[in-house]
Parts: sequence; structure tokens; C-alpha cells
Amino acid sequence: MAQLIYHSTRSINQAVTAAEAILSGIAADGGLYVPEKIPVLTTPLRELARLDYRELAVTVLQLFLTDFTEAELRQAVASAYNSRFDTAEIAPVAEHGGVRYLELFHGPTLAFKDLALALLPYLMKMAARKTGLDKEVVILTATSGDTGKAALEAFAGVEGIRIIVFFPEQGVSPVQKQQMVTQAGNNTSVIGIEGNFDDAQSGVKQLLTDKKLIDAMERKGLMFSSANSINIGRLIAQVVYYWYAYLRVMKDGGVQAGEPLDFAVPTGNFGNILAGYYAKKMGLPVGTLICASNKNKVLSDFFAFGVYDKKREFYLTSSPSMDILISSNLERLLWEICGKSSEHVAGLMQQLTSLGRYQISEAMKKNLLDFLGGHATEEETFQAIRRVQETAGYLLDPHTAVAYSVWEKYRQRTGSKIPVVVVSTASPYKFTKDVMQAVDPKYALGEDFALFAEMEKMTGVPVPVGVRGLASQPVLHKRVCKKAEMQLVVENILGL
Ligand SMILES: *Cc1c(COP(=O)(O)O)cnc(C)c1O
Repeated sequence: MAQLIYHSTRSINQAVTAAEAILSGIAADGGLYVPEKIPVLTTPLRELARLDYRELAVTVLQLFLTDFTEAELRQAVASAYNSRFDTAEIAPVAEHGGVRYLELFHGPTLAFKDLALALLPYLMKMAARKTGLDKEVVILTATSGDTGKAALEAFAGVEGIRIIVFFPEQGVSPVQKQQMVTQAGNNTSVIGIEGNFDDAQSGVKQLLTDKKLIDAMERKGLMFSSANSINIGRLIAQVVYYWYAYLRVMKDGGVQAGEPLDFAVPTGNFGNILAGYYAKKMGLPVGTLICASNKNKVLSDFFAFGVYDKKREFYLTSSPSMDILISSNLERLLWEICGKSSEHVAGLMQQLTSLGRYQISEAMKKNLLDFLGGHATEEETFQAIRRVQETAGYLLDPHTAVAYSVWEKYRQRTGSKIPVVVVSTASPYKFTKDVMQAVDPKYALGEDFALFAEMEKMTGVPVPVGVRGLASQPVLHKRVCKKAEMQLVVENILGL
């Protein structure tokens, strides 16, 4: 098979292999690595439908990671998707009240981030071997709540890798925070920042490309990488479950082979939904990708008007992992829809930095028809949780509820009969109080951890292992810093 080459969205003169792209996390020019061409999966759907999650994962990964052997990918996939997930299906599709949900929260940290992050350490170790890397890798991560814990869980105790996580001190749920600050492992550091996710992500991106810092790291035998969805390795792992979901729905007759299936995706950094777009480009019959935002609706405005404008108020919502105004992965979509012109993307990104906004051309807008943007207010989100619980006996987490609400409005507006899969990104157990309160205001007085028992009673779903006993675990990470201090903190941790 011909080697698939990756290069930055902002320049074409830095072609790298998949292994190199995964190890670096971000390109030196600040752009994101993209596959030169999205590979097409030509195996007939009926044949693919016989594969289990792991076999399908190998099939999809092989097309993107052409410098990895099939044996390596098999090994990585087997190590990632095992009994750490509470179902052998890994990413089951459930049906409740006539709506299908792709449940991506059966991994160790109860959010969809596990699907990619469980795999990433194995890919990185293999990539390090392949490229003859002789440095220790430092994973620098910004989290809006779920990536942090999923990455800590995946990289804790992994030899040759250290991980540093920055999270917005005031911007995550109590359960999300407790999951992170109780993380064991002497290669882990977790720091709260006085700021929001955008501050954390911009800070991390800046450190990842800071020439002086990188040189200082090099002298110590260290190099940076990223566990955020700016790392192409994460996106590729996420492509798998779109295929899996389609094949499951096809198998139980919800869609005929080749007919379109819509996906409603709760979106923040645009990583999850971009993987759905890649799946479509690979040949999966995806209909509309419904891009659902919460009150921070910068993306739904972008899809409506072709203008991306981050100069607006930032809201803290009940779906904190989507409280984002700078959606990094949109840059990869821009590259696809502008005819893969890196100069053009670089120009738009320059405008975003200097002016806080950019506008795309009419021609580019025409290439956005795979997507439909929408948003749900807090009230609509809570109503969706209550309504689905009352009518279908199924409890949605607030992120999934945003997607459900946006899809419902879309269906009412258009009368669309195309079947949909709502991508369910987290377990309601990560957001106990908000979810219980949405169902019944009487829970407003309860505390998140105290409500675990009530949620168990309401749903009949036992408290997941990942959060059982979490409240009483010792807090191991207490550091909080200002945004401007991030570099100092990193230097201090690494002894630079
Ligand atoms: C990260 C996250 C999202 C947003 O995903 P993106 O890839 O950033 O768009 C949505 N829901 C949950 C629960 C998440 O953890």
C-alpha cells in the first residue's frame, strides 16, 4: 500500500508520516496535521457488518496509519479495547423511545474521550520505536473536563511518557474535577487554571510550539506531544465508531445498506464531529452531520452565516466539555473545504488571532452542506433530559441532551424522515446534580456525589466502577495557577 502522508494545515513543506504526526501532536508552524488524502474504504458494508469493534478498528486504522503494520495495529487495538470497557461491544447502539444513541461512555472514565485515548499510548509507543526516538515524551493537555481524566487514565504509569493536564478551575463538574485531582501515578501532574478552556488550550498550543522552550526540553532529553484532539491520532481512532454505529443500525434494519444515516453530535472542539466527516469522506453513507452547540454557539453561527467570530461572551453551562469558543479542529475542515490551500487556512487563522474573526467565501460555504448547525439553551437542554426520562425511561447527560434537543428541533422544522443516531458522549453520572435537577427540581439541594444513589435508583444502572468511591479518595493535585504562569509551572515540573 502506498504511504499516506500528513502535513500541516498551514504549510505543505513539512510532510511527515503518521507516526511522526502522532508523536509531534501539532505542527511546528502552529497548524494541525491532516492526511494528504482521506482514504476510501471499499469493502462492502455487508462484509464489514460481520466485524466486531476491534476488527473494524484495525480495518479503518490500517488505511490511515500506513506506516504501522497490521500486527502492530492488532496489538494496539487489543490492548486498548478490552475489559477496561464495561461492555464487549465497546460502543453499543441503544434504542430508547424510538431514538438511537451511540453510547460512547462505556470506557474507564465514562466519556467518549476514552475511545481514542485508550489507544493513543500504544500508538505513541510504537511510533517512538519506529522513528528511533530517544527522548522522553511529555504530553501537554488542556481539558474542558473529560479529556484530562481520559488522558491521565491512559498515560499514568506508561514508561517513557509524562503527562501534564491543565483544566479550568471553575469550569468543570465536581465529578470531573474529583476524577482528575485524585489521579495517582508519579508521571502525572494536574493543574487548575484561573481561566476557561480557551485560555488553557491557547496556552498549551503556545507552549507546544515555543522554540526556546522546545530547545530547553531537548537539552534535557524531552519532547512535547499532545493528547488533545489537535493530535491526529485521536481523530483517526474516532472515525471507527461512526462506521461501527452505521453497521449496527444497518444490521437491525434501521437503515438499508447505502441509505443515509444522520448523526447528531454534541460539539465543542469539533473533534468528534470531524471524525464523522472523515468517515463520510471514506465512503460511509452519512447523511447530515448535525453540529450541536450549547449556549456558546460560535459554531452554529458559523454554519449559518459563514462567519466565525470568537469575540462574544463566554458562558459556563451544564455541558462544560462544550464550553469552548475556539474550536481547534474546524481548521482541519477549513482546509478540506477551501481546496486544501494551506496559504488560505494560514490567512484565516491569522485573522482569527489578530481580529478575533474571519469570514469564509461563498465557494467554501457551498462545501459545508454536509453539516447543519444548531444550538440548545440551558432550558432546552434540561427539558430534553426531563422529557426523554419521562417518555423513554432513559437518562441523558447534558451534552447528549444538547444534541438530542438540536436534532429534535431540526426534525420538527424540516420533517426529515432520515434515521438518526444521537452521539452520546458521557454518562449522566459525571453530571449527577444537573441531570437529577433537570428531572425533578427537588434534587437542587443535593450534592453531586450524594446523588449517585438516587441516580442508581432512578435508572437501575449501577454506579459505574470509574466513579465508585470517588468522593472519599485523597486529593493528590492541589496546584492552581494563572494563565500567564503556565510556562513557569511546566518548567518547574520538568526541572528546566
Ligand atoms: C469533549 C466532549 C464533547 C465535545 O467534543 P469535541 O470533540 O470537543 O467537539 C462533547 N461531550 C462530551 C461529554 C465531551 O467530553
